[in-house]
Amino acid sequence: MPPARVAVIGGGVASCSLVYAMRKHLEARQLSLTLFEMGRGLGGRAATRRTREVPKLRVDHGAPAFEVRSARFADVCESLMVSQILTRCVGAYGTLRTTGEFVAEASGLASGVVPVRYTCSDSRGMGALCDALVRGGSDPAMGAPALVDAVFNTMVGAVRRTPEGVWSLSSSTGEALGEFDWIVIGSTAIGHPRWSVTFGGEPPLVLAARGLADQALDASLAQLAQLASRPVTACLMAFEGPAAAAWARMPFMKLKVEGDATLSHVSVQRLEPALTVVVLHSTHAFATESEAVYGATSAAARLAGAKTDALVEARLVASLARLTNTFGMAANFRSPLWGPHLHRWGAAFPTAPLLPRMHAFVPSARVGFCGDFVDTGDGRGGSVEGAALSGMQMADALVEALRLDGSAASGADRCDGGKCVVL
Ligand SMILES: Cc1cc2nc3c(=O)[nH]c(=O)nc-3n(C[C@H](O)[C@H](O)[C@H](O)COP(=O)(O)OP(=O)(O)OC[C@H]3O[C@@H](n4cnc5c(N)ncnc54)[C@H](O)[C@@H]3O)c2cc1C
Repeated sequence: MPPARVAVIGGGVASCSLVYAMRKHLEARQLSLTLFEMGRGLGGRAATRRTREVPKLRVDHGAPAFEVRSARFADVCESLMVSQILTRCVGAYGTLRTTGEFVAEASGLASGVVPVRYTCSDSRGMGALCDALVRGGSDPAMGAPALVDAVFNTMVGAVRRTPEGVWSLSSSTGEALGEFDWIVIGSTAIGHPRWSVTFGGEPPLVLAARGLADQALDASLAQLAQLASRPVTACLMAFEGPAAAAWARMPFMKLKVEGDATLSHVSVQRLEPALTVVVLHSTHAFATESEAVYGATSAAARLAGAKTDALVEARLVASLARLTNTFGMAANFRSPLWGPHLHRWGAAFPTAPLLPRMHAFVPSARVGFCGDFVDTGDGRGGSVEGAALSGMQMADALVEALRLDGSAASGADRCDGGKCVVL
């Protein structure tokens, strides 16, 4: 029997961690894995944005760094430190209190309360994490090949189980994307009611499930439907020359702003001595208020004519005035080389209750879910670590179900030679 074919929908941290955890089996060609990503590259909410306007610019417009608490993900990160994909960031976080006082997290270092955090070097950007994970941890800059077929700029818009019992996938433009034995969904999108609000019609997986009469899949989709999330509007800017140097002198890489209705976090990314990126993250309330507004250069604005609003950008930038008093910044921080540009994260952080782990793997339907919306049991939902752990747990479940390591198969399927058949 030929190796099982697995389609992974989405190329965020969860999906890429799944690939990393299955690297041994992929290298041995025990299964084939095809990853579909609607964006231009990997990373999702931990991606790095680039622009032709300023070729050397790299902007981490989602997660700029991440905390690690679990031993399993810490092992992965430590090995990515060895290959110089990740670096540790210690003492680079701080809080701006409502009183205007700045409290650096480093002050808690001696007490051992500072969390262990990692980031990618500023010259690479956070996108390097996913680029390395799909290469089994090897450095993409060294030309290491990906262990999966990655198909970009392709939104999976329909999934269907054929009479032969395989999953047939099509793109949002109707193009056939192939047939697969298993599908892993690395984003809530195709199974969540939000699909109907954004694109109209029923979510593709809900539609497909209707014809299957698979109680376990129905139960998972019912749980998924309850999942909610909170938005964040990001405002991206890059500074050069003295303004870049002024920003680079800030005593933080990420600042939490307390008691502000508009601004929640400020991330400073020091690319070069004379080039600094600043990303403002709005409060959830501000993002909800300006829900229908997209960045002028966003795909939604370019392709679908979604509304853009310079006022939203202006309000986020104006909220920086609070920093001026505390840090005495030069006035020229108001004239960026690039930006301000809005990026709207409609579903930035999932809110509890997350998808219970028992509903994230449905062997009877040969469907899996992974992402930061899955409750991995570690209390790390809504984070890079939560996404990575869920991807690795999905890999464990697939390895067991497909008997890739010689263990007994679970669920309703019988698996031979890495391929499962429904009994
Ligand atoms: C502004 C912001 C700041 C953050 N800061 C931090 C932080 O400091 N620390 C931290 O740990 N976490 C942070 N996070 C959260 C962290 O980024 C996420 O928890 C994590 O990246 C989620 O990864 P994921 O793989 O679950 O999902 P995603 O990154 O959302 O990946 C899902 C992917 O699926 C793709 N996709 C969806 N539907 C389809 C389809 N139909 N076809 C093809 N592709 C599809 C999407 O394009 C996306 O790339 C932040 C998030 C945001 C938005």
